[in-house]
Amino acid sequence: MPFVALGLVADLARAVAAQGYAAPTPIQSQAIPLILAGRDLLAAAQTGTGKTAAFTLPLLQRLQLHRNGPLPAGRPRALVLTPTRELAAQIADSVRVHGRHVAPRAALLVGGVSMGPQFDALRRRVDVLVATPGRLLDHLSQKTVSLAGVEILVLDEADRMLDLGFLPAIRRLLALVPERRQTLLFSATFAEPIRQLAGDFLRDPAVIDIAPRNAPADRVEQQVHPVDAEQKTALLSHLLSAGERDATLVFTRTKHGADRLSRQLERDGIRTAALHGNKSQSARTRALDDFKQGRIQVLVATDIAARGLDIVQLPRVVNYELPHVPEDYVHRIGRTGRAGRAGLAISLVSADEVARLRDIQRLLGRQLPSSVVEGFAPNGARPVPAPGGPTARRHPTHRVVPPTGERSILSPPRQPARPEAGAGNASRRRHHPNPPRRVATTGDRA
Ligand code: AMP
Repeated sequence: MPFVALGLVADLARAVAAQGYAAPTPIQSQAIPLILAGRDLLAAAQTGTGKTAAFTLPLLQRLQLHRNGPLPAGRPRALVLTPTRELAAQIADSVRVHGRHVAPRAALLVGGVSMGPQFDALRRRVDVLVATPGRLLDHLSQKTVSLAGVEILVLDEADRMLDLGFLPAIRRLLALVPERRQTLLFSATFAEPIRQLAGDFLRDPAVIDIAPRNAPADRVEQQVHPVDAEQKTALLSHLLSAGERDATLVFTRTKHGADRLSRQLERDGIRTAALHGNKSQSARTRALDDFKQGRIQVLVATDIAARGLDIVQLPRVVNYELPHVPEDYVHRIGRTGRAGRAGLAISLVSADEVARLRDIQRLLGRQLPSSVVEGFAPNGARPVPAPGGPTARRHPTHRVVPPTGERSILSPPRQPARPEAGAGNASRRRHHPNPPRRVATTGDRA
């Protein structure tokens, strides 16, 4: 079905065609006509489904069609709230790219950068304001922006905004936008607090649930590698160095863990940068840009920094540590397998994370395939050398020992511990002449 069949005007359909989108994605097919009709919307859709264009396109069209003369400076007609700076920047880009023939004026208000250019932007007309909640409240307190002209409000990644403690800020902001407005709420999941938020602030919303709830994109192949915690870095180095040097996004639970791992990988000769909330905005932008341009192979990130990142052609995500919250696993692996491409999500799971893995599998409603990488069998599980098993064929970049078959990592090991030989051990010796320090898994936040 072409985009025009959804009711989009030619100027927008043209911009979409220039992007190379052949047909609307399911969220776009469903959301665009509803938004064009003026409905409030409650949509469950993961990142990677094309949800940004699902709201920017109809939003631009409604602003274009319902123009009531020029608005004063600093009074946006549409407001998009989103949890992170990177996501805000992506949305503002989407507004500019899709709106190239309708020339909307977009402004971006995010923290971590100086307010000066933001003041300048607000001294002009603003059609679409994309903001993180904290920085928007700063501007409101300085009266540099007014929300009294907002006709369309979008809450993007609403579940994550709540996780980050933005609920009070969101409620304050919602009190400042006119009651007569269109509200669109996007969330990866429909957890109870999201339903509550929707109940309080949406008017008779249309409900769309694109992916089965809490399900990762179909095209992401998931793999668990059981490994001792102190061997994770060596195993990761081994996987990253073997075969094709695919771009890889690696998740750690903590900022310090991300820095430490990034330094270690650099020492192993792997071009790496870390991305987390303690980095300056310019360092975050540079790291992301280097990664997108292929100047570094690996980006080590915490959940918060990586939220919503749109990296086209990201073939591989590695969970160096499993997330605290099972839903974050779905978000993390949603960074790969985007827009119809295949992706691989690998989780390195140590014994202390078995409960976390169990929670994730419960959320997904199935067990994840588990295989020991040769040379990295966890203490207590002995690998059965069976080269060429099904998983090994699928991942030519590293040799795995498939002793587990349908067995889960949760099953008790069949064999007592035994030191093993093989490529992995050689690599381990290379990287770790001494046993490496155990990576801290708690303490700081992303
Ligand atoms: P999102 O879920 O909004 O983060 O989008 C994920 C990726 O899908 C982005 O790189 C978009 O450019 C891309 N995308 C969005 N809509 C389409 C489409 N209809 N066809 C192909 N790619 C798309």
